[in-house]
Amino acid sequence: MNPSYTILPIQGKVQHYEWGGLSFIPALLGINNEKKRPFAEYWLGVHPLGISQILHENGAVLLSDFISANPDKALSATVNHKFGGLPYLLKILDVNQMLSIQVHPKKEVAIEGFDREDRMGIARNAYNRNYKDQNHKPEVMLAISEFWLLHGFKPQAQLEEALSEIHEFQILLPLFKKEGLASLYSFIMEMDQQSVNNLLLPLVKREIRNKREGLLTKKDPGWWVAKYYQEENPVGDIDRGVFSIYLFNITQLQPGEAIFQGVGVPHAYLEGQNIELMSNSDNVLRGGLTSKHIDVPELLANTRFESITPKILTGRTIKDGETVFYFPVPDFALGYVQLNEAALFEDKATGPEIWMVLEGGVIINNSMVVKKGESFIVFPDNDYQFRTSGKTQLCKAFVPADNAYSQYEEN
Ligand SMILES: [Zn+2]
Repeated sequence: MNPSYTILPIQGKVQHYEWGGLSFIPALLGINNEKKRPFAEYWLGVHPLGISQILHENGAVLLSDFISANPDKALSATVNHKFGGLPYLLKILDVNQMLSIQVHPKKEVAIEGFDREDRMGIARNAYNRNYKDQNHKPEVMLAISEFWLLHGFKPQAQLEEALSEIHEFQILLPLFKKEGLASLYSFIMEMDQQSVNNLLLPLVKREIRNKREGLLTKKDPGWWVAKYYQEENPVGDIDRGVFSIYLFNITQLQPGEAIFQGVGVPHAYLEGQNIELMSNSDNVLRGGLTSKHIDVPELLANTRFESITPKILTGRTIKDGETVFYFPVPDFALGYVQLNEAALFEDKATGPEIWMVLEGGVIINNSMVVKKGESFIVFPDNDYQFRTSGKTQLCKAFVPADNAYSQYEEN
């Protein structure tokens, strides 16, 4: 029997990027990680670099094929008309080592860049490919542990403070005062490597010493610089991404708190576990602290050079145990359900909803059992009832109703 558009178990794809942790995702998914491979991300969606599978009695089928067989039914006519496909990609991340400094492009830039790289003959999965698809990639993360990240440029006064207090940065202060942030950041990112080394090597060594002597906390840029170099004195070239650690807001989130990363806001994840939700895209422009492809001109062309104060979101309580987060994009919204004891949770899907159980388990509509680490999709127009017997945590990605995303401001 072929599955119908009801509620179906799905299986995602693990990405073994080098910055990933060894145990969180394996424990979540119930996988033995004897070989000690890094488990960085778990993807749920239809992105070509990791398409989920629908599991059914006779085997498995790609979620993308199942959706395109009847998109109006799988997505709802409204969502299909608006986006032409599943608009979001849901992930679980375990950040052990700092990620790259990055920004995400606008949709128009992605469309143009994708075509340009195709014309240049750069393979879709090539190392030096910037644009993996033709979509924008606004993204949000919800912390499921204490989480640290770099998010946007610091306010003006704090930038001036950093540039005047750090001896090595003092020569940059006049440029910043005279020409502003864009000039300063471009200057740093385009500086020749020898000058980068001259400026940063003594600083990095000092920070490593400071961390060892217990003079730093995670609120200090130096703590992350020392961690990046694994507290060993660096040899060879110093990564210019180190500058960004001093210029961006170091932001701490508690479990249950979220932050939205809009187009052009530079950021880098530092440490922790999160749920990440984004438009269905893998377009990342990188500027350092990575062995992945770096493209400084493309990064600079797509960065918003403005100071920001990070906006930490706590969501809106919809009903007992359920918090929903809306964002300033129509592509996705995020639900987080925490039930502390035996409970009944009911709702109805209006568009495609992807769910994952993070803790405990649920019985859906008295028939389907879903446990920790397992995921499912609820197709539009299906009612559901979850029964739980104890502490349970789930997250859900969904497409917000028209204009619901304007509630972002009220989060
Ligand atoms: Zn990002």
